[in-house]
Amino acid sequence: RHFSSAPSPQSNSTEENGFKGHGMLAPFTAGWQSSDVHPLIIDRSEGSYVYDNNGNKYLDSLAGLWCTALGGSEPRLVKAATDQLNKLPFYHSFWNRTTKPTLDLADDLLSMFTARKMGKAFFTNSGSEANDSQVKLVWYYNNALGRPDKKKFIARSKAYHGSTLISASLTGLPALHQKFDLPAPFVLHTDCPHYWRFHLPGETEEEFATRLANNLENLILKEGPETIAAFIAEPVMGAGGVIPPPKTYFDKVQAVVKKYDILFIVDEVITAFGRLGTMFGSDMYNIKPDLVTLAKALSSAYVPIGATLVSPEIADVIDSQSNKLGSFAHGFTYSGHPVACAVAIEALKIYRERNIPDHVKQIAPRFQEGTKAFAGSPIVGEIRGVGLILGTEFADNKSRDSPFPAEWGVGAIFGQECQKRGMLVRVAGDSIMMSPPLTITADEVDELVSIYGKAMKATEERVAELKSK
Ligand code: PMP
Repeated sequence: RHFSSAPSPQSNSTEENGFKGHGMLAPFTAGWQSSDVHPLIIDRSEGSYVYDNNGNKYLDSLAGLWCTALGGSEPRLVKAATDQLNKLPFYHSFWNRTTKPTLDLADDLLSMFTARKMGKAFFTNSGSEANDSQVKLVWYYNNALGRPDKKKFIARSKAYHGSTLISASLTGLPALHQKFDLPAPFVLHTDCPHYWRFHLPGETEEEFATRLANNLENLILKEGPETIAAFIAEPVMGAGGVIPPPKTYFDKVQAVVKKYDILFIVDEVITAFGRLGTMFGSDMYNIKPDLVTLAKALSSAYVPIGATLVSPEIADVIDSQSNKLGSFAHGFTYSGHPVACAVAIEALKIYRERNIPDHVKQIAPRFQEGTKAFAGSPIVGEIRGVGLILGTEFADNKSRDSPFPAEWGVGAIFGQECQKRGMLVRVAGDSIMMSPPLTITADEVDELVSIYGKAMKATEERVAELKSK
């Protein structure tokens, strides 16, 4: 009865261990799993590994949720947190009061983001809150400029921007919309830039990018450019399946949005701080954004924090308005929480001191080529990635047009085969995603590739069995 949808990588069921469910309404977890399948309880971490409460060790190939960039046991981050907790565990940043770590972190971020000059940083607790804040900042800005109709957002199919009402609306995944009455009416979605899945016969990557930019322009013209406020994009799509952009894509879409005076929001929640081998995804793809969304690796996930960076022009307009109208009435109790900021400052120091983007650049070929060596497998449609992020999509006979039957749960089988061998991966339908800690060593990459290969072989065998039935 568990397998009416894809099976969970965990297999210790109720019958085996008398599990009676738990009290947590679990995020992104099926109801039947919460009641029937014992959750995997992670108890401690060390470097690139996590341990469950039975002492089993796993290579954490997703770095938690694409976030523990410095691994699970960086003492400098722990010290930064405890020092700050001892000195000042909390003060807020409302009404022109704040804390020093908050101001220092804003300065650090503004100096580190060099793809273009940014003006100010606003702090949140998460990526979702940061993207919700982007929408409010953009609306506030356009209201200030006397453009009350310029309010719509264009996001992309398969994007992931969060799960609060507005960030889930920006997200382009049906599961986050269905049954939640989303997306909000002011959010439009344009094409997913996934070349393998969506290119036309004979179309090159460049031609595909041109077609997508033309579609974007047509959508803008159909809606009326005076109604479109901003375009939002991840440099490499993450939760949608790890989708790097086709060649020339960002040059072309940037030209389109610029032409119609539409702001560009780059969501760097996964790509910032070295993930792709450059400090930011914007550096890799020559993106010159008006607003930047950050979270996850900002604190290496040791404490929750997110941020938005806004261009000097936007910062100036917002400042000038609030002088006339009273305060800028947006913010959270924990915007710029001093403990989160102290940890983030230390994480940023480590990224720079250890030159983490360079480490990623050097180790990435081992990770990318090691895993892509399995691209010839008959069950693999595509293996794609850049730096330390990778997506694997299963397909029958390697064809994008012949997915495996969903009830076979091929992705989940691969996930189980990895877990059995001591590695945790992210499974989403028949896509598998990995984004290990940026501090991963060469030996650990070899271990990751070895488990990946063994799991691939085992999955091929299971698929052959399923086919023969
Ligand atoms: N944007 C991107 C690109 C993300 O990957 C995520 C989280 N996976 C978010 C936003 C939302 O961040 P959070 O879960 O911290 O709200």
